Amino acid sequence: MNSLRDTWAEIDLPAIEHNAALFHSLLAPSCRLMAVVKADAYGHGAVQTAEAAIRAGARYLGVAFADEAVQLRDAGIQQPILILGYTPPRSVETAVRCGAAVTVFSREVLLAVIGAARRLGRRTVVHIKVDTGLGRLGLSGSDEIEELIREALGSGCIEVEGIFTHFAAADHADASFTRLQYERFRSILRGLEAAGIDIPLKHACNTAATLQYPEYHLDMVRVGIGLYGMWPGDLQHQMAAAGDHTRQKNAANREVRHSSGLKPSCPPGSELQPALQLKTSVAALKRIPEGHPVSYGCTFTAGRQTLVAVLPIGYADGYPRLLSNRGEVLIGNRRAPIIGRICMDQTMVDATDLPDIQIGDEVVLIGSQGDSAVSAGEVAEWADTIHYELVCGIGKRVPRLYS
Ligand code: PLP
Repeated sequence: MNSLRDTWAEIDLPAIEHNAALFHSLLAPSCRLMAVVKADAYGHGAVQTAEAAIRAGARYLGVAFADEAVQLRDAGIQQPILILGYTPPRSVETAVRCGAAVTVFSREVLLAVIGAARRLGRRTVVHIKVDTGLGRLGLSGSDEIEELIREALGSGCIEVEGIFTHFAAADHADASFTRLQYERFRSILRGLEAAGIDIPLKHACNTAATLQYPEYHLDMVRVGIGLYGMWPGDLQHQMAAAGDHTRQKNAANREVRHSSGLKPSCPPGSELQPALQLKTSVAALKRIPEGHPVSYGCTFTAGRQTLVAVLPIGYADGYPRLLSNRGEVLIGNRRAPIIGRICMDQTMVDATDLPDIQIGDEVVLIGSQGDSAVSAGEVAEWADTIHYELVCGIGKRVPRLYS
């Protein structure tokens, strides 16, 4: 390892390829897989992830902002890219220049895209965003959507390649809201068809919907979290409730989804593989007597003579401070509890029950060691957050090691 630090994230690119191939195998031949690689591919590295997903059949890439599209183009990636979020007028030319498709959800954005396309003399691709219930970006009224599309087509420089919506609760066991959103989307699509407007790429599904609603796949699915080997929000909680608690590296997920009433759509034997592990190593060991506090605020006091292991990772690395006195790490294939407050650059754990521990021993904060595993979902639960936020938040100063 080139880094001067003893903390790192291991990214398993074959796992990402495996996961992308798994999703690809769930799709009809006419349906494209979009790999959602925004936020530096949820902390996994946008370029490396995009390349792995493309190798496994992804035909489209999704980013949030224009600079993320530029990063992929600068790395030589040629695949179509959709900017899923808001592109401010001053960034539109950059998006057009790098050939990324822009999400249009208002006349203001459309006019900015038309202006940039005319100035640059480049035909520009847009996807129209429809709000069917998420209450975020998107138009809802069929008349305004049709009007906007007609204005785009009338400009002569815009290709309306796609139209999409985003589900609010596709990970829930209760399908009613997702069904309602899908029906609203279908009704808008029917209206456009009746008006003679043909849009080639209609898309709605994120990871949860791709897994649970094959009948909603349409022309493309947008898979993020699943690509990284993690189950979306509530699917993961249903697994935990059914007793798995994700400690066995997401094993047995198909059975759990059966028992929680969810429709299985993973082919037998195929499972998502977590692609990220967060690791550090023991920096120092010290014995403290009973009654001795640990870390800022003295929120932990040793109830016995305690062996403290000091780890060189803290909240500035994205290891949440909410794990203070709550989380666990793996050392020597066993769990060790975090004691005291997590500091900016350091974390302390109780290693009293690990008599063989040595300075330099590997510590797993997310991932597996021997037969033990701590999933991102479990760490996120301890920190009152979701695994999406946890992995996106792993700091830039944590080097990524790719295999
Ligand atoms: N589509 C859109 C518009 C999104 O914003 C996201 C992620 O937030 C995704 C797809 C991917 O969602 P997931 O990571 O749950 O698959």
